[in-house]
Formats: sequence, C-alpha cells, structure tokens
Amino acid sequence: MLSHEPTLSVGILEGYEELRGQLEGSFVLNGSRRVEGPFTCAIGNNNLHIVFASGETVTDLPDVRFSPVAQESSFLLEDVTIGVKFHWERKEQQRFRGGLRVVLRPGKGLTAINVVSLEEYLASVISSEMSASAPAELLRAHAITSRSWLVAMLERARLVHASLEAFAPITPETTEVIRWYSREDHDIYDVCADDHCQRYQGISKGISSAAAEAIASTRGVFLVHENTVCDARYYKACGGLTDNFPNSWEETDIPYLRSIADSPVTHPPIRSEGEAERWVLSSPDAYCNTKDPAILRQILLSFDQETTDFYRWHVSYTREELEALLQKKAGLDVGTLMDLVPLQRGPSGRLVRLRIVGTQRTLTVGKDLEIRRWLSPSHLYSSAFIVRVERREDGMALKFTLHGAGWGHGVGLCQIGAAVMAVRGFAAEEIVRHYFRGAELRKLY
Ligand SMILES: [Zn+2]
Ligand SMILES: [Zn+2]
Repeated sequence: MLSHEPTLSVGILEGYEELRGQLEGSFVLNGSRRVEGPFTCAIGNNNLHIVFASGETVTDLPDVRFSPVAQESSFLLEDVTIGVKFHWERKEQQRFRGGLRVVLRPGKGLTAINVVSLEEYLASVISSEMSASAPAELLRAHAITSRSWLVAMLERARLVHASLEAFAPITPETTEVIRWYSREDHDIYDVCADDHCQRYQGISKGISSAAAEAIASTRGVFLVHENTVCDARYYKACGGLTDNFPNSWEETDIPYLRSIADSPVTHPPIRSEGEAERWVLSSPDAYCNTKDPAILRQILLSFDQETTDFYRWHVSYTREELEALLQKKAGLDVGTLMDLVPLQRGPSGRLVRLRIVGTQRTLTVGKDLEIRRWLSPSHLYSSAFIVRVERREDGMALKFTLHGAGWGHGVGLCQIGAAVMAVRGFAAEEIVRHYFRGAELRKLY
C-alpha cells in the first residue's frame, strides 16, 4: 500500500497548435537550464520549439518538462478550454502550481499536463467544488473520500485500460444493452481537468482557507479496507437508501459499497415494484431529505440556478418525445413506443435493467447511467424511478411520467446527506464510517 504522497498528472488541454504561457518564479527546462517569464511553445519538424519573451529560443525538443525550483512557483496558461462538451464551455487564463509537461502527439497537436502533488490537487478540487462556508467536518469528510477515491482510481487505471469504444455497437439483432462506464480511458495522464474526471482549475481562483485547512488536517488520511485504499465513490443525493456497487459497475461485491439507509433509523431495502412505488411516491425521513437552502448552497455551488426537487422528482414526456430521445441518444427506432417495464432494481430502488417495448423492436437497457442517458436530453437525476403511462382508450400510450428519487448513482457517500450530518454535529470520521461501513481510517504518510 501507499507509503508516501503520490504525484498526479492532470491533462489540462489537448489538440492545440500552439501554447502560450508564463512561468512565475524559476523553472528548470528538461532537467538542464533555468528559465522563467512568458513563453510560446509551437510545433515544427515534428518537434517542439520554445520561444521566451527574453528572446531565448530552444528548438527540436521531443517533449517539454518545466519543473518548479521553489514550491511557490506557478505557471499561467492562456486560453484553457474548460468544460469541453459541456454547455458552459469557455476559455480563460488559468494558473497552476507544480510542473508543466507539453507532449506532441502525431495528428493530435499539443497536450499540456500539470504534474502536481496529490494534496495540492485535492486542495484545488475541494476549494472549487465546495463552498468555503461549509462546515469544517463536511470538508474534512470530503477530503478523505476524494483522496481515497483518487488513489484507488490511479491504482486501478494502472492495471487496466478499459475504453468506451470497447462496447459492441447496437445492431438490429441486439436485444440487451448493458453498459457501465469506468474512468480508465486516459493514456498519457492520470485524470483530465473536466467534469469527466473532476473539475480542476489549479490555483486560478485561489484556494479557500477552509479547503486548505481541511486538506492539511487530514493529510495522508485514507479509508482503508483489508489493506487496500477504498474506492470511495460519491454522488449528490441517494434519495434515502444507497445502492450496491455492482448495480452501477462490474459484478464485484465491495463490502464497504453496500446499500445502507441514509438515516438514523433503518429503512428496509426495496425488493418489489410495489415497494419501489411506495418508496418514490413518499418522502421518508433521511439525512439527504432537506430543502434547507443554507445546506444546499454548500454542495450545489450554482444552487440559485438549480432546482431543489432532487430528493423526489418527476419528469413527463409525450410518447413522441421519448421516441425521438431514444433515436437521438441510442440510435434506436423502436417504432411506436408501447411501454417501459422495470426488470431489475437495486436496494435503493435504482433500476439496473429496464425493458423498452416498441412495435418495431423490444430491447433491455442497463445499467443505471445508460438508462439515465437514454431517457433524458442530458441525464436523468437517477434511475430510481417508477413509470406511469397515460393511455388512449385503445391502449395507445400518450404520455410517460417518471417519478424518481435521488440524484446520482447512489453508491458510497451521499454529499447532501453528509452536509446535513455535519450540520447536525457529526465528525468527519463518523460521516465517512456511516457511508463506508467496515472501512477504517489510516494515515499513510
Ligand atoms: Zn477524464
Ligand atoms: Zn442520502
């Protein structure tokens, strides 16, 4: 197991023809000369050329490594695209601590990679994902969870390389599409800076003192189970019950990622359609059953633009709208959509397999993320829903309403539940032990 602080390589931008930046403080270029100040990195003769503002030029480099001489050194990159493929895509200047690598990939242009210590990376992520006014115990619980998740992800990624393209295409003969998404799909760096992995903007926005304190006071502390760092997953809100790992990912039982009731009292797991119906149509007491704006603002940074009906929610589509969605999201022509039939649920009520019944074809889809992708222009809040169909007298479906619970995959830590626990006075250790049963806390460096 880990015995010292690991270093992370974070993909900052990709596909650039030219890169402009500025080194603030002294850096060493490719282990030899000292450099600083504004620079431009461009491609020529299948190699990299760097021109500094001072006029100094370095040519014919196969790759570029700027290593900081002092810890407080930082660098700026211009025109960093953030939110690739997301609606808030924009470009802005960003600032990072640690080292900068620039790699030239044939046909893919320049890739910029920030080489940063794990704790430095975590401080940035916690600072930008959570409000500085959040309770200290929530920030600490999140620091321990994110730190464990990252290291477990790195260890897994270095063992296997799964990729989205490995999925079999949907053909006219396909009757079942069961997919899940792992994150091991970056090859020359560990994580990207987008929502795909975890949004990361270095120190562009500064690091809040609350985030810095949460990281420093839990430095090197991990969730550990049987001498392995826990794969500590998290999401926005469970909806009252959390789910088992295999219901979202591969068929591996992970003891600390089994379903629990997110409340001081126990709720039995969902075992039938009748129980699922009663569950999502009621509003049982749970830590994440809150509409308190002061709590939600700590977790949902754009809270004022977001809806707060994530604990119990519903969405309606006309039959034609759903047919068009299936065409667009899955390339599927089902003919006239007749029904959506739940086939298998996890203990939180989340659907693992759903049958889509049409006049042209009938097909089963899973697991939760694929169901959420297919049945929404973006993503459904969760797959813990029941289906109500309005029909014409002759049985033709007119309108489908999904009544659901929770937000996210429901495996591991419920962020809104954790925020409520912190407000109620629980310590970080109690919060993580509540969600990751059987895991212990250990300081590894
Ligand atoms: Zn990524
Ligand atoms: Zn919850």
